[in-house]
Amino acid sequence: MVRVCVIGAGAAGLCAARHLLVEPCVNQLDILEQAPQLGGTWVYTENVGYDDFGLPIHTSMYKSLRTNLPKEIMGFPDFPVPESDKSYLPAKDMLAFLKLYADKHGVTDKIKFRHHVQLVIPKQTPSGELWDVTYKNLTNGAIETKEYDYIFVCNGHYNTPFIPHIPGLKEFKGDVMHSHDYRVPDIFADKRVLVIGAGPSGMDIALELTTVSKKVILSHHLKEQPRTEFPDNLQQKPDVERLEGDKVYFLDGSEDEVDVVFLCTGYMYNFPFLHESCDIVVEENCVEPLYKHVVNMKHPSMCFIGVPYYVCAFSMFDLQVRYYVRSMNGTFSLPTPEQMAEHWEEEKRDRAARGFTRRQAHMMGPDQEKYYASLADEAKTKTLPSVVTKIRDESMIRFFHNLKNYRQDKYKIIDDGTYEIISNGKRE
Ligand code: FAD
Repeated sequence: MVRVCVIGAGAAGLCAARHLLVEPCVNQLDILEQAPQLGGTWVYTENVGYDDFGLPIHTSMYKSLRTNLPKEIMGFPDFPVPESDKSYLPAKDMLAFLKLYADKHGVTDKIKFRHHVQLVIPKQTPSGELWDVTYKNLTNGAIETKEYDYIFVCNGHYNTPFIPHIPGLKEFKGDVMHSHDYRVPDIFADKRVLVIGAGPSGMDIALELTTVSKKVILSHHLKEQPRTEFPDNLQQKPDVERLEGDKVYFLDGSEDEVDVVFLCTGYMYNFPFLHESCDIVVEENCVEPLYKHVVNMKHPSMCFIGVPYYVCAFSMFDLQVRYYVRSMNGTFSLPTPEQMAEHWEEEKRDRAARGFTRRQAHMMGPDQEKYYASLADEAKTKTLPSVVTKIRDESMIRFFHNLKNYRQDKYKIIDDGTYEIISNGKRE
């Protein structure tokens, strides 16, 4: 009798549920979701701060968002995003896609909505290690603790803002805001805005602000300057050295005056419901100790879906889930804790040697194909087709160098390794 608890019904949790529901070794599956609907990040709300139950608003979605990857690589390997004339879709279409995915696989009816997981704690029993999960039914206030054999942690990691240390930030005279709370540009009308960070959100939002703001300064430390032609009211600057009053001083010695400091500085992994005896530690945004970024090495009946970033997210979730479920049903055996720890230490040494910082412990980017192959090989399952990573790389290059127009490109997958793009009416 195997009982599984999935925490969260965003893309990762839905994917876990889709596979677990058809897995013969699983007898009971609970999918606990604190929100009243599925979709996690892709659910747009105008609200910021806290919801009606006092929980922090989870989503960081802004109104104008369109995906930064084409829909051709945004789906699941066994369930692509339906055909449409555009490749880059608005968030509401991605949410509709996730609903379709969950409905088609019988997942939606199984989700316990408005169930907030408060505590996960391991316990030793004569039959081995089990888990106690305590959750609150937000509708009636009832708190319950239930026992499980396996835990899938799928709570997302784009919801707890990372606030960098910038001298003078706390005393800054104007407004300070993080992109987690950004919804529409109107609040920045006629303001002088300092956007810190040029990741996908920082670049997109900075460009959007130029339509309403007096001036936008995009401060970043990208090694390569984006070749995107920004409007005249956007200026790029290096990192901020310090803030004083309403003045900002940059590392190149220049200075300026701004009304708003807008932090597009990313997010932190956060697992507030994991008791310390789960032995998961997050330091400098490195989640440890995880084998292949999935398995809790100290308690291998707990897994994490979706930790790596700069990936093809939904496809990777699917592969991680297939990997872990195959370890559950005996298709392969996970290495010993010592072997897993040695593997992780080796990976860390290799990453450090290649210049990755500790904060980039879960960054895949150039390592994607190797990572996918390593999961697939070990679990004797199919890896992701190379066309997926090829399109991702192509799309990211176009994002940085043609931000204004790249979303008009239309992609077509030819086979597992090749694709074509219709850009500006021309086939490439
Ligand atoms: P989430 O979608 O965050 O889902 C986690 C779920 O867990 C939520 O529903 C939450 O309510 C629930 N939960 C959390 N804690 C608890 C608890 N204690 N109890 C019960 N339930 C809980 N990716 C792309 O591939 N392409 C894009 O274009 C793209 N654009 C993005 C734009 C923005 C602004 C952001 C923030 C992210 C974007 N991403 C994009 C990344 C995106 O987050 C992932 O693609 C993916 O949707 C994450 O899914 P997830 O299930 O891991 O997390």
